[in-house]
Amino acid sequence: MFELTLSKVHNEERQGEAFACLTKADQSKKKFYIESYGCAMNFADSEVVASILMNNGFAVTQTFEEADLILLNTCSIREKAELTVRKRLTEFRKVKKENPGLLVGVLGCMAERLKSKFIEEEKLVDLVVGPDAYRTLPGLIEEAESGQKGVNVLLSREETYGDIAPIRLNSNGVTAFVSIMRGCNNMCSFCVVPFTRGRERSRDAKSIIKECEDLFANGYREVTLLGQNVDSYLTPALSTSGEGAVTFANLLEKVAKVSPLLRVRFSTSHPKDITDEVLFVMKKYDNICKYIHLPVQSGSTRILEMMNRTYTREWYISKINRIREILPGCGLSTDMITGFCTETEEDHEETLSLMKYCEYELAYMYYYSERPGTLAERKYKDDIPEEIKKRRLQEVIALHRIQSLAGMQKEVGKTAKVLIEGNSKKSDMHWAGRSDNNKVVVFAKTKNELSKGSYADVLITECTAGTLMGEILQN
Ligand code: SAM
Ligand code: SF4
Repeated sequence: MFELTLSKVHNEERQGEAFACLTKADQSKKKFYIESYGCAMNFADSEVVASILMNNGFAVTQTFEEADLILLNTCSIREKAELTVRKRLTEFRKVKKENPGLLVGVLGCMAERLKSKFIEEEKLVDLVVGPDAYRTLPGLIEEAESGQKGVNVLLSREETYGDIAPIRLNSNGVTAFVSIMRGCNNMCSFCVVPFTRGRERSRDAKSIIKECEDLFANGYREVTLLGQNVDSYLTPALSTSGEGAVTFANLLEKVAKVSPLLRVRFSTSHPKDITDEVLFVMKKYDNICKYIHLPVQSGSTRILEMMNRTYTREWYISKINRIREILPGCGLSTDMITGFCTETEEDHEETLSLMKYCEYELAYMYYYSERPGTLAERKYKDDIPEEIKKRRLQEVIALHRIQSLAGMQKEVGKTAKVLIEGNSKKSDMHWAGRSDNNKVVVFAKTKNELSKGSYADVLITECTAGTLMGEILQN
């Protein structure tokens, strides 16, 4: 049964998800199987990879035992993410023994970080392909079929895959990710992304709008514009066509104008870059969801400085205040790291007090995992014992649980405009969808004319920590 998981930026439930197309695999074609790990960008990239492979004669399968090619699109953000992939690879060893012609490829951030070392370390791997080299996959597969290992981890300053129409896999047919930029120019000291995904580059606005228009024409009703730092989206003015530069605020407005029935979300915003202009565009268009993922990482200015986040606690709080002033009731979410180098109990208390102030609807919370090659690894000692990192994480999680439940309870008695994404997980007598502020809403089916992709006004009558329940309003 359909599950409501697509619009989360990093979703534990989706880690290792195998993609499948709705159409049946053509038996005469070679079949590939792809699993994705990590953030939404990786899941979106797998749809680009699927498009490249399907245009080159492959069909997709959801069963790795029947595949000719197994691909893992990997994440390097924390050590645990890499260990999960290593463990998964060992499970393919047996299949490869039984089917020696089977190729196994590693894509994404781990491929970029480890390069050909991967092939030395994991003998069963035939292909290692970095995030900017997916166009070369068909050629690399041919090489690997002839017995050579295929490796391409070149990073690019231009590649955006803007001209490739992603194949929507495992789609609910209502919500979709649209990648608007790649890479990252920020140098947060804990983060491996600038090294694995390269320099920041923005995708041409016309191809983004075209993708959103096509999605809408095909019945999709929500797009999430994706980038590591969407607020620094910028395409330059073109002297040849006279077109002006496009900022993120301009792009958001263009996407909002595709149709008032197309909901628009975006992720991730960096606190240093989100502008009033963006907030005013959000205010102007009802179909831009009033929800901002604004990761803070820590509540302590001293730690933020060491993390190279380039803002202080006070600056972050002033951004939150500005959002609340321009967009009252706007939902907020964050990412948090506990136990970063030198973090004291006082720093940790500041994180907790900041969370109390911000009242996040959703938080992705982690304990610090030192990554090889990052600024923090080179500059600082990873000196907080794991049990302290974990204890602080538990405190952050416990506080967040209380706050998010309180946030859900505040919705009871209000009316939410829900975009229906499918049947509820538990019963096909109920619809499930999301409110504008990204909360899952479940309600009984009463009106026959409603279907996936319809909007419904729902009176919220009760809630759990993760779901709002309600009744459809007869209007
Ligand atoms: N670009 C986004 C931003 O700046 O907020 C986030 C990108 S990163 C893929 C997602 C989250 O992973 C980060 O916000 C951070 O909380 C977490 N993260 C990154 N590196 C980490 C590390 N070394 N240890 C623990 N968490 C980490
Ligand atoms: Fe990593 Fe910072 Fe870039 Fe986000 S903004 S991807 S945390 S370097």
